[in-house]
Amino acid sequence: MKMSGTTVEDSNPKIDEKYRHIYVIIEHFEGHVVPVSLEMLGEARRLMDDFNQKYDLKEKVVAVVLGSNVRDLCEELVTYGADCVIYANHEVLKYPRNDIDTRIIAQIAKDTELIKEISPEYQSAFARPRYMFFAADNTGRHLSSTVLAELESGLASDINKLVISDLEIRHEHKTKGKTIRYEKILEMYRPDFSGFLWTTILCLDNKNPEILREYHPQGCSIIPGAFKPIERDRSRKGKVIEYSPEGYQDSKIKILNRKVVKKTVDYDTSKIIVSFGRGIRENPERNIKMIEELAQTLGAEIGITLPLSKKPYQLSQNFDSKYMIPDRVIGTSGSKVAPRLYVAIGLSGAVQHIAGMKESEVVISINTDKNSPIIDESDIFINGRLEEVVPVLTEQLKKQTNIISMRSN
Ligand SMILES: Cc1cc2nc3c(=O)[nH]c(=O)nc-3n(C[C@H](O)[C@H](O)[C@H](O)COP(=O)(O)OP(=O)(O)OC[C@H]3O[C@@H](n4cnc5c(N)ncnc54)[C@H](O)[C@@H]3O)c2cc1C
Repeated sequence: MKMSGTTVEDSNPKIDEKYRHIYVIIEHFEGHVVPVSLEMLGEARRLMDDFNQKYDLKEKVVAVVLGSNVRDLCEELVTYGADCVIYANHEVLKYPRNDIDTRIIAQIAKDTELIKEISPEYQSAFARPRYMFFAADNTGRHLSSTVLAELESGLASDINKLVISDLEIRHEHKTKGKTIRYEKILEMYRPDFSGFLWTTILCLDNKNPEILREYHPQGCSIIPGAFKPIERDRSRKGKVIEYSPEGYQDSKIKILNRKVVKKTVDYDTSKIIVSFGRGIRENPERNIKMIEELAQTLGAEIGITLPLSKKPYQLSQNFDSKYMIPDRVIGTSGSKVAPRLYVAIGLSGAVQHIAGMKESEVVISINTDKNSPIIDESDIFINGRLEEVVPVLTEQLKKQTNIISMRSN
């Protein structure tokens, strides 16, 4: 390390050379790449293009896909931004199984022979990927934690903004109180406190000589809907490499039978969805009855925000088991919906919720707080108490319905 003023600069290129590329772990279902995987590829592409320009490097976006009959997906991944696709194809990998997938992805991440094919110029020092992206869904959240544990590095979960930068850091333990420059750090932003504040998470090497240790890859799971895929370019060229994994035979988990549990609520065919959040809290049972009446008048399905699925209020069994259930959650932890009309009642519009409903054609929201983020998603924002607005709306709608049905008779 070389001193410059009060800053100790990291001039050890060896460390930097050990870590290369962004690895994006792809998910697919019934022969199709799931949207969040294309979104992650898009963001990786944008980050890597800037990165290579800034640092004058030729690092790559590497997609990793495990499954059975997945060869055809590889070309598609190239057209969505991957420079290279590593795929493992085997009947055993047909469905996600955390123990096997973890082992294989960790093998791929550490494989220096693969790097010879991806980027021979970086092979000699290569140890691990520089960055690694997973989806923040049920499969990816679990997989990211086990893979990063296997690779003995850190993980930031549920991220919706990423920046690569050089930072001056002073930390009691990591830098032993000195200011040290860290290069090519992935700043991972996580929405917290209902999505109104961001926590920036950094995965930093220990540069304190007493506890020297490197933490790579810098890994994160990414909230579905947080980024946009790049426009598909069918003329893009990339390398596709088949990987022959080891150790998939000795899984403790055997799939003997498989049944897909269907959700109890069908949002796919719902043209109108009325959702409510913690704004019902003054009198939950009465307010839900009111919202139910509005939904019935509109012929709408009912959705909720995540906190309500944790059953925060005492309700009669009928309401509790009908509405306060995970199947009704809209957002990253529940369903992604795209109705023609979305009515958001007493919900603030946290980023995780918005990710689930932002494809709605028209959004009407009712909220007491003009500063609630839901206002930014709304075509019509009604500033008021739901207890007063909802009954008026229902009454007016009933009158309109009567007029419409009288006219059509
Ligand atoms: C990893 C992770 C995943 C998550 N996934 C999801 C997800 O998939 N879906 C999801 O919804 N959340 C999710 N969340 C939670 C999310 O961050 C928010 O905490 C949650 O969405 C807030 O719920 P809310 O809008 O009901 O409550 P609040 O944020 O408390 O908002 C209540 C709103 O009601 C308004 N209000 C109060 N009284 C009235 C009244 N009388 N009339 C009208 N308006 C009123 C208030 O002004 C406020 O805007 C997730 C969080 C994490 C950390």
